[in-house]
Amino acid sequence: MAQATQQALALESTAAEAFLSELGRNCHVRGWALGTSGNFSAVVSREPLVLTITATGLDKGSLSPEHFLRIDASGRVVEGLGRPSAETALHLLLANVRRAGAVLHTHSVWSTIVSEFYANAHGFWIEGYEMLKGLEGVKSHIHREWLPIIENDQDMARLAGVVESELVRCPNAHGFLLRGHGLYTWGESPEQAKRHLEILEFLLEVVGRTRTLSGSTGR
Ligand SMILES: [Zn+2]
Repeated sequence: MAQATQQALALESTAAEAFLSELGRNCHVRGWALGTSGNFSAVVSREPLVLTITATGLDKGSLSPEHFLRIDASGRVVEGLGRPSAETALHLLLANVRRAGAVLHTHSVWSTIVSEFYANAHGFWIEGYEMLKGLEGVKSHIHREWLPIIENDQDMARLAGVVESELVRCPNAHGFLLRGHGLYTWGESPEQAKRHLEILEFLLEVVGRTRTLSGSTGR
């Protein structure tokens, strides 16, 4: 039985890593994870918690399943070669606090620009767009989505504390931006997280381009 469970976990893990590898390569092509930036993870076991996550410093344009590490709830590597990303703490936080089955982090041009533009307001509303319906639980374009912006910080333990407070304050958020840095989003499954990533990156570009076209400086 134990062996069967182990086998099931191994198979699930392989599927998750294959899915995230293809997603990572696509993110690179779209310019969302250039210069080794970004990281991707999925929960492969809930009890005890085990995450598969991209090792640090990898070109996402050639990401493949062997580039993933498995880490436990404390961030310790339990399988795989290489070091986990410095941002592993945020992936573990989302797996715990949001019960995320997968966490995706990108460094796109539009997330960087928009996160600076609205930084003083600590976030911004997105509303009236059909694409909002791609976010889990959203049934109509008449929906107001608050995307929080959190000040970037190289101290990951401190940043994780700030992010946790923000997640509690914004229980309906499907993602958040780190200022001048990038987007975090998640989902119950890798497929749902991918959908959220594509929707939010689309909306970030819409918001950014709309501001550019309207020439607005209204922060
Ligand atoms: Zn990052």
